Amino acid sequence: MLDSYAVIGNPIAHSKSPLIHTAFAQQTHQPVHYVAILAALDDFKSTVESFRHQGGKGLNVTVPFKLEAFQLSTRLTERATIAQAVNTLKFDGNEILGDNTDGAGLVRDIELNLGIPIATKRILLLGAGGAARGVILPLLQQKPSLLAIANRTPHKAETLQQQFSAYGNIIAGDFIHFSGDQFDIIINATSASLHDALPELPIGIFAQTILAYDMMYSREPTRFLKFAQLHGTRQIADGVGMLVEQAAESFFVWRNVRPQTKPVIAMLKSPM
Ligand code: NDP
Repeated sequence: MLDSYAVIGNPIAHSKSPLIHTAFAQQTHQPVHYVAILAALDDFKSTVESFRHQGGKGLNVTVPFKLEAFQLSTRLTERATIAQAVNTLKFDGNEILGDNTDGAGLVRDIELNLGIPIATKRILLLGAGGAARGVILPLLQQKPSLLAIANRTPHKAETLQQQFSAYGNIIAGDFIHFSGDQFDIIINATSASLHDALPELPIGIFAQTILAYDMMYSREPTRFLKFAQLHGTRQIADGVGMLVEQAAESFFVWRNVRPQTKPVIAMLKSPM
């Protein structure tokens, strides 16, 4: 008998999660069966309930349901409570545990896979949507000297600054607000790359940057990563490592077993 897990979203056909979790299950010899489920936009809750009543053990939740998953959870981890978004559900009797592993995935990718400690670094986080919100606390827990949040609509960045100011040194503004400033790590958590667009960044922002990181992943470097490279950043990375690391963290939440991520990242990066 295999334990049943899935990723739920809309759209979902593009999801690499079934590939990743199947690789984890094979590698760790865990009895896991993992599929992708498309939920209608107005039918998230009943799709989850029907999966659960059929014996499903857990779900990964992706766009656009992370807030609904947060609301559906009967118990929340601290990181999910603070992110106000859930990407991992674990079903245990009557309990629905909601967790958020996105931030842990990003931190592990930057620190372990890319070898760049976050402590004492000056970080610029671009974007103030769901992905940005989910990574702020895990980034601050690594004790950067500064976390600047820049967003096209500045009041959303300022709201995040107020919400997280108790956890570290945060400033916020629009992109131009940071003209003339320098950062060690610049993370693109906007959805601009999905539309092959580039946030309107100040000239010179990458001059001292060690790492430019785009949460979006694609076969070719995104416009953001190409721009960063052209303007002086030393290293670029896309979000494939974060994707695999957040999946590994979910797998650990469900199975209490930590899979090896490097071979799975290599598999996703290799030409299919
Ligand atoms: P949201 O829709 O919640 O937020 C979108 C953000 O992008 C907002 O801050 C918005 O600014 C900004 N934005 C959109 N277009 C532009 C533009 N042209 N220029 C500047 N800013 C722009 O999206 P998410 O936060 O859920 O996702 C963001 C990205 O993160 C996506 O690319 C997603 O694929 C990726 N992601 C990757 C993960 C991984 O594991 N690798 C995990 C989760 C997300 P405004 O407020 O002004 O509208």
